[in-house]
Amino acid sequence: MCSIISRGAKNGIRLADVHRTTVFFFLSVAGEIVMRSALVLNATYEPLSVVSARRAICLVLLDKAEIVADDGTRVHSERFSVQSPVVIRLRYMVKVPYQRSTTMSRRAVFARDNHICGYCGGAADSIDHVMPRSRGGKNEWDNVIAACRGCNLRKRDRTPEEAGMKLAHPPQAPRELSWIMYSVPRIPEEWKPYLARAS
Ligand SMILES: [Zn+2]
Repeated sequence: MCSIISRGAKNGIRLADVHRTTVFFFLSVAGEIVMRSALVLNATYEPLSVVSARRAICLVLLDKAEIVADDGTRVHSERFSVQSPVVIRLRYMVKVPYQRSTTMSRRAVFARDNHICGYCGGAADSIDHVMPRSRGGKNEWDNVIAACRGCNLRKRDRTPEEAGMKLAHPPQAPRELSWIMYSVPRIPEEWKPYLARAS
């Protein structure tokens, strides 16, 4: 396992490889790289997860993954210099025993509904429970919809039928791979070929 033990000076991260030998090295990178994400592919090129760029670098340095696409920059340490990974592929096969469903969150609901109110088509800034929670409505994908404040206030704790409001479409759980879309604010161009292949 490669794990972060402590933050170093302003522009670096101290990482430790605690896999048999302990190797300390210092990444002299700008702070922004910490925020970047890398797409992890299974050995079969199937999208598996999204990790931070520094975690991806760890997997590459531990020889557990190879870089499939990088962002054109290099990350330097005292001992190593590697391309900054955007897509990595594991050198071993990971079995995925179940179909992963997208975790529901406020951000994910807005992303699924394109920030559009499900009732009037205006800009959404709140989440509505179609069957109100006060009446047993669940906090699940098929019972939540992005809504504008006006529609939300108008509907109150009523069903759309009771409030005389019409849903543009019934809410549904997003497609299987959508969790990747919702894990980052914007999908990097380099990820798209691998996501298209899988869907
Ligand atoms: Zn509305």
